[in-house]
Amino acid sequence: MRRVYLDNAATTPIRAEALEEMRAVYRDHFGNTASVHLFGREARSLLEKARAEIASSLGADPEEIVFTSGGTESDNMALKGVAWAMRDRGRHIITSSVEHHAVLHCCQALEREGFEVTYLPVDGHGRVDPEELKRSIRKDTILVSVMLANNETGVIQPLEEICLIARERGVLIHTDAVQAVGKIPLNLKRLKVDLLSVSGHKFHGPKGVGALFVRKGTPLEPLMHGGGHERGMRPGTVNLPSIAAMARSLSLAVKEMEENGGKMRELRRRLFQGIRERIDGIRVNGPNPDDPVPCLPNILNVSFPGAEGEALLMALDMEGIAVSTGSACSSGDVEPSHVLLAMGIPPEIARCGIRFSLGIQNTEEEIERVIEVLPGLVERIRSLAPRWVRNGTSE
Ligand SMILES: *Cc1c(COP(=O)(O)O)cnc(C)c1O
Repeated sequence: MRRVYLDNAATTPIRAEALEEMRAVYRDHFGNTASVHLFGREARSLLEKARAEIASSLGADPEEIVFTSGGTESDNMALKGVAWAMRDRGRHIITSSVEHHAVLHCCQALEREGFEVTYLPVDGHGRVDPEELKRSIRKDTILVSVMLANNETGVIQPLEEICLIARERGVLIHTDAVQAVGKIPLNLKRLKVDLLSVSGHKFHGPKGVGALFVRKGTPLEPLMHGGGHERGMRPGTVNLPSIAAMARSLSLAVKEMEENGGKMRELRRRLFQGIRERIDGIRVNGPNPDDPVPCLPNILNVSFPGAEGEALLMALDMEGIAVSTGSACSSGDVEPSHVLLAMGIPPEIARCGIRFSLGIQNTEEEIERVIEVLPGLVERIRSLAPRWVRNGTSE
């Protein structure tokens, strides 16, 4: 059976060029970047080359890039780092209700430390209203954190407006750009965020490596203490093979953005059309390909009312097709996605949501296979569902 991987928002397969880079660095440049001898100096120079490459891909200066273990650490470093550095100036943070758990759970941890957090609501497409942000900023607000693109729906936030509002009022701004980097044009000379999170494995780079952009002059406390790596911001021997490979995959992602973006956008549209033609009563969560609302080229989130997302995910898995639901499993109960609920989608519809996320490796053939297989599975699950699920009502 041919397998079809449509869960690229969870992680992507590493691309050949990045894997080759990683092997080459492990083989030829294993030195510690902090060592003084030639092995160390060579490694150090590769590290700075990768830093410059990533900076240039993002429109940043090399000194503004700190390497981390991935998106989660970058988000933690940004939120806790600013909160701790600014705690004497204020204890209020603003974020959105549709952030990744790396941001939301970080905010909850900060609340337990005495910080106050405002969670901005979103509209039906999952977008924050900049006016709402204006109203929420207080004298003691120290940080706004709003993601660039959502990992469950692909919707893109009005971040330029958000930046203008925050900057005007002297509030720092962080964005989790993990899903957006390498997929939509991004230039930090124009987008005036102070901090931005990046993760290598979301753009066909290696796992367990990421970066945090920290604009010059941004106050930030380190999360960890140790040696002097990354200028004291992130101690610990740096993961040079992964960093070099991440730099390579990001450069390639930026270089091929138009071509790959166009290809994925086309496949996303085809998937949507196929589903809409063949399955009754579907509902797209977030922008559908015909909406003018800005959206990533690779994510399509669809509810099949009457067919639980978890059941459909497992049925698709039996066919070798990998997708995801946004739901979180807590103590055996399946909780519908907090993102879909925040968009005002009723729980019984949110529970039936499936996220299809494309990568640069996906083909038209694969999408046709999904369109072939899906209607039968949805029909079977709908016919097996208890009546209250079928009717889309609770009880
Ligand atoms: C995947 C993801 C993260 C976490 O990144 P890791 O590198 O897996 O820690 C954070 N934010 C968003 C939006 C993501 O999609």
